[in-house]
Amino acid sequence: DVGDVAMSRFESDKYLPYPHLQQSLKRIRRRLDRPLTLSEKILYSHLCEPDTQDIQPGKSFLKLYPDRVAIHDANATMALLQFMSAGIDKVAIPTTIHTDHLTMAEKGADADLAAAKIKHKEVFAFLASASARYNIGFWKPGSGIIHTILFENYAFPGGLLVGTDSHTPNAAGMAMLGIGVGGSDGVDAMAGMPWELPCPKTLGVRLTGRLTGWASSKDIICKLAGMVSVTGGTGKIVEFFGPGVSTLGATAMATIGNMSAEIGATSCLFPYSRAMGNYLDVTHRANIAHAASQNLNLITPDEGSDRYYDDIVEIDLDTLEPHINGPYTPDLSHPMSQLAKAVNENNWPKNLSASLVGSCTNSSYEDLMKVSGLLQQAAAAGLKPRTPFFVSTGSEQIRATAEAAGFLDIMRNAGVTILSSSCGPCVGQWNRPDIPKGEPNSVISSFNRNFTGRHDGNPGTHSFVTSPEIATAFAFSGLLDFNPAIDSIPTSSGKPFKFAAPASDELPTNFSTGVDLYQPPPPFAEARKVFVAIEPSSDRLQKLEPFAAWKKDQALDLPILVKVKGKCTTDHISPAGPWYDYRGHLDNISNNMLTGATNDFLPSHPPGTAQHVSSGVVDAIPVIARQYKAAGINYCIIGHNNYGEGSSREHAALEPRFLGAVAIVANGFARIHETNLKKQGMLPLTFADPEAWGRIKKDDTVSILGVEQIKQGKQLKMRVRNRKDGSEWETLVNHSFHEGQIPWLMSGSALNYIKSQK
Ligand code: SF4
Repeated sequence: DVGDVAMSRFESDKYLPYPHLQQSLKRIRRRLDRPLTLSEKILYSHLCEPDTQDIQPGKSFLKLYPDRVAIHDANATMALLQFMSAGIDKVAIPTTIHTDHLTMAEKGADADLAAAKIKHKEVFAFLASASARYNIGFWKPGSGIIHTILFENYAFPGGLLVGTDSHTPNAAGMAMLGIGVGGSDGVDAMAGMPWELPCPKTLGVRLTGRLTGWASSKDIICKLAGMVSVTGGTGKIVEFFGPGVSTLGATAMATIGNMSAEIGATSCLFPYSRAMGNYLDVTHRANIAHAASQNLNLITPDEGSDRYYDDIVEIDLDTLEPHINGPYTPDLSHPMSQLAKAVNENNWPKNLSASLVGSCTNSSYEDLMKVSGLLQQAAAAGLKPRTPFFVSTGSEQIRATAEAAGFLDIMRNAGVTILSSSCGPCVGQWNRPDIPKGEPNSVISSFNRNFTGRHDGNPGTHSFVTSPEIATAFAFSGLLDFNPAIDSIPTSSGKPFKFAAPASDELPTNFSTGVDLYQPPPPFAEARKVFVAIEPSSDRLQKLEPFAAWKKDQALDLPILVKVKGKCTTDHISPAGPWYDYRGHLDNISNNMLTGATNDFLPSHPPGTAQHVSSGVVDAIPVIARQYKAAGINYCIIGHNNYGEGSSREHAALEPRFLGAVAIVANGFARIHETNLKKQGMLPLTFADPEAWGRIKKDDTVSILGVEQIKQGKQLKMRVRNRKDGSEWETLVNHSFHEGQIPWLMSGSALNYIKSQK
């Protein structure tokens, strides 16, 4: 009976939900009566009401019961504070917390981890005690990065995972639907409430052929990003199909799923394959592989279902070149043969100041074996890397496995700095004294994201993302206009050295589990006695006060705090790096609000500045926002395109709410951020006429009319009045609130509404 198979080796009392999913799938089949895509099968079999729920991709909202929740440390403080303030006794579904984002990379694994444990002692103790109190599995510092741990231990074919991190689609490599959400969405799921998702469309990506030479799975997603842009996956699940799929390993598919977040995708999926079964076997989960093999109808698409994809693109692996994407955006895609030209034309800094390999995106056995193979080739030619070279392993398990295989020794001998199994430079936690802030420089990495300041907080850093093997080869040339497929590197013997394309096994025969850094939740009777401490004097943790309910007319005559121009990711709205320290303290972290955003009203001022509409004083955006808040003045923010793209951090929504913003009007929002804003009782609105953005002037005030009568699908009117000349004009704005979400707005937040319903 496959219903008796434990979901993971850490949760022997929670079983794979296949019997229930099969029941739901039958009901969905009866309703839709046609071949089903894999996305439809997995998503709709998790519907709360498969018989009756409205299924209209791009239109309706789905209410779903996920199988599990995962939260990383940078979001966990706020998520737990919200969970605690909802007054719920324990999580209703399997939940884990992972300590990965807070660890700073500087000197190397041991020293960095020791420093993190001291610096974040209070936060780690809070997370450990709150996990124990509320029946949550806690992964201690050093255990690894959220997505890698999930993939190695918890991902199962056909499951639905919500993670408070945009790269949760990493689970695609195990035919699991991983979806990135904000912390308050995570709280809904933890509380056992239906979790809502706009019903996604499907982008089919047909793979043909087989990767050769230097090309890797990373190049598939780097190429796709170039084809469809950072918004190409918005509102869609990216579903891979075609004969090329079976040539990929499970971790290679995870890399693609992981980086699908960079095209704005809701999620990503690969059909269950031999490679996934092999991965389950070597990660001590042969029982899950067996159960999956008994449920193939659930975890592979129906024949002929590809005609139900909303769009299809095709990638031929036979001819796919390695890609290097960047700088500053992951969709600026360069086939390797054309990078040198682009570097010269754009005057990007040619000398590489660092090469970084690893992270949750690319630290698989296959990746690390390729890297060490290239290092051995170079060592045999007497070469050392010309740039500082860092490797971050994704988890203690892969670290221990790579150590046992000898890969890490090869790296150390080449002068590589092995970082701890945490996010580090991938997320701005990189203390690098070698480059002064502001100095233009280039880095290459095997990470997934390259927004401004993403690694080191330096806006002058031009970041390029690529595969681990290309990042390794480039470390030896030290130059961005290098092409290892054709270029040689001079050696001291005078004989030029040329790399042979890397080779690797897909998997080891067995994974080492490494040091046990997991804290299981205690039995419930013991858990109830656990005390969760929050010191009132703490500058790291602060109890949440509920936001005020909507007040009539509070969206009238709003001054504009800032008119954002250009890219405004969650890194621009709530930067990471040193600000991670305050993720559990809303008042303190609000001092970073929009400090990375460019203000169209102040073109000659640095990003992050605003002008007070009454005093005319120019200061940091959060400073001006606090002045409005102190004076009881509500205000709005004008955003630009795809506002809030990037990470799932809900601080980007909590901060403007806390500092008194009422509405954000933009030409478009990233999905997770828009939901986060709605959950915090804000009004995210989009211009019905995108040209209206250009008409907004510095001395304008904005009124959103009729908010108290807001209805699903009905546009609102926005009146713009110029304070100086008194001129007025009106335009229509769209909102995406459905009837079930409108009470969030009126109650002041989704949490307020949940509490009122208890
Ligand atoms: Fe951490 Fe980077 Fe992975 Fe995000 S993408 S979980 S920051 S390693």
